[in-house]
Amino acid sequence: MYKVNMASMHALKGMPRNFTPRKEERLGLTMEEEEKKKIIEAAVCPFCACLCDDVVISVDVAGNKIKEIRNACKFGVEKFLSAEKTERRLKKPRVDGKETDYERAIGKAVDILREAKKPLVYGLSNSCYNAQRVALEIAKHKKGVYDVTESICHNLLYPELKKGNNPFYYALLDEIRDNANVVIYWGSNPIESHPRHLSRFAVYPIGRYAMKGVLDREMIAIDVVDSELNKISRWFLRVKPGEDAKIAEIMKRLVNGETNGLGELVKDGIDFDTVRKITDRLKKAFYGVIFVGVGVFSSENASKKVEAILALVDALNKEGVKFVLFPMKGHFNVMGAVQLLLRETGYPFGVDFSRDSDNIFVPGKTTVLDVIERGAVDAALIVGTDPFSSFPCDKARKLCDMPLILIDPFESLTTQFASVVFPTAITGVETDAIAYRMDGLPLKLDKIVDCEYPSDEVILERIYEGLVGSL
Ligand code: SF4
Repeated sequence: MYKVNMASMHALKGMPRNFTPRKEERLGLTMEEEEKKKIIEAAVCPFCACLCDDVVISVDVAGNKIKEIRNACKFGVEKFLSAEKTERRLKKPRVDGKETDYERAIGKAVDILREAKKPLVYGLSNSCYNAQRVALEIAKHKKGVYDVTESICHNLLYPELKKGNNPFYYALLDEIRDNANVVIYWGSNPIESHPRHLSRFAVYPIGRYAMKGVLDREMIAIDVVDSELNKISRWFLRVKPGEDAKIAEIMKRLVNGETNGLGELVKDGIDFDTVRKITDRLKKAFYGVIFVGVGVFSSENASKKVEAILALVDALNKEGVKFVLFPMKGHFNVMGAVQLLLRETGYPFGVDFSRDSDNIFVPGKTTVLDVIERGAVDAALIVGTDPFSSFPCDKARKLCDMPLILIDPFESLTTQFASVVFPTAITGVETDAIAYRMDGLPLKLDKIVDCEYPSDEVILERIYEGLVGSL
């Protein structure tokens, strides 16, 4: 299947398609209003792990309101404007469902964690790096379990890398933008999840060896579902659920020139002609990248799929074709959480500090869903996430049986079940922050508007101080 759709390409160049200026902006600002306006030229968007750092925001300083946003996608615009969605905000701290003040709520949270034998500290992918650091100290101090959302989304990449069967070829996004002329999205649809990924890093921008941008690149989509991405891809290979590992294996054999046994593999309606043509393109690439998404990492038999794609990338490199594998990260600072934990413990997520140092990271035992399933934790401190909406029902039900402390700017399903709830500022919109882009590049996020709430970092620090005895 070979196709190019120029109209769709232009529609995807990351323009803020869904942002409608407000009435007063369409009418123009008076001189007085102009004077009260602050323009932030290079704001960083705190929605997804692309951390687009070219967002231009105009703020009415006197009114403490965002007036205009340029360059962000619809998700980014919604995130910045969420500061104004007062109906969704948590208004006051709550203890056992009753509104209270921060002091009492902190006292209660400290009591819960003091009494807990082994608490779970979870979430943190929407928090700044410093908040993640304090939360980690709380988990260490209590010899609890510390886990982040990476544990749910990409939990099979790291064990696969740890096995050491295949090397990990990886690059920063800037290197990919400069060099890649073959770009594969495998089990990933950035149009839905990271709308500006194509325009900023992978497909449309001019690179050192892609001087004509998209015209110098070929995009390939491999997925189980048809999507808008497929319409703008040069090649689309639709795979059946669970077939990804087989496709990667066939491609690897074609790269290696091994034809023995291929007939067995290409049975069951695999579109071998397209697989062969795509593999030919991979072999001729100057530099290629496979962006792998949750369609691979969070699906059945994910470890086999990851292993097979890693092996394909290895085979290409051994044939002299520079290729890298890049995992697509979701939440805006999930990489900060992973980097911090790797630095402190050598493991990326799901560590249990009550175990001896050789066994603190055992995927399937020390990770969030497993410790909840076994009843191995007896309290939970949840930061910036909504496990009651995202966890399987049986795990969410088990969470109900223990005291929960929740730190979040917004009402959610989880806030209804939490023993203690803390409203906070929105990180990266109402507070400064340090966050790590999906390739590990740290960026500073500036506060855009003021708010009446403390940051999650401040709440976590107060809880930590209470626990270590200086409250
Ligand atoms: Fe924000 Fe992600 Fe959209 Fe960039 S792609 S503007 S970081 S939501």
